[in-house]
Amino acid sequence: MASGNAIRGVRIGSGPMRPVERGEPAPRRSVTYWCADGHANPILLAADAPPPATWDCPRCGQPGGLDAANPPDPARPEPYKSHLAYVKERRSEADGAAILAEALAALRRRRGED
Ligand SMILES: [Zn+2]
Repeated sequence: MASGNAIRGVRIGSGPMRPVERGEPAPRRSVTYWCADGHANPILLAADAPPPATWDCPRCGQPGGLDAANPPDPARPEPYKSHLAYVKERRSEADGAAILAEALAALRRRRGED
């Protein structure tokens, strides 16, 4: 069955029902994380697990914290920057001119024009 190696599609909800779990469920508690946009995201944790310091908000993707009045800063206000933008952050126009002059001088030396 060579064709049987393809990833098999399983439709959500089409699988067999899970057997009823036996015994008591592990004790859980609800912990609510708050993001900078004020979304409250309650999650269930095992009662004996220490809650993580932050939990990404499923609605806006920003990190959420346990303190509603003091949520963590939104991560990365600028999601995309071009390579050139990063270079311009590190280098000034003067740096650029100096680097260009240096590179041109080296090029001329290599060509024997100096
Ligand atoms: Zn949010």
